Amino acid sequence: MSDKIRIRNHRFYSSAAWQKVRVMKLQHNPLCEECERQGILNPGNEIDHIISITIRWDLRLSWDNLQTLCKPCHSRKTMEENKEAMNPKPIDQMARKLKDLLK
Ligand SMILES: [Zn+2]
Repeated sequence: MSDKIRIRNHRFYSSAAWQKVRVMKLQHNPLCEECERQGILNPGNEIDHIISITIRWDLRLSWDNLQTLCKPCHSRKTMEENKEAMNPKPIDQMARKLKDLLK
């Protein structure tokens, strides 16, 4: 991620508009949506962008792009997103998998 994007994201997260939407979303749904999908009711206290704002800056305040998460779910998702960003293209991964199969 470039510094420019990092600074832009950082500024956004401290903006009044984000704070307002964040609180609204938490009030609307105080449960972790990821845990809920696993059938667990767990309070969440972090609001996540389903599609990262690094990818879709235009969806940063879009209600449909927000979900409530608990801290462990949020960290896991962020880690996976970072991993994806660093990984080679899916086509390379497929080629590697094929090679493994043919070994
Ligand atoms: Zn969770």
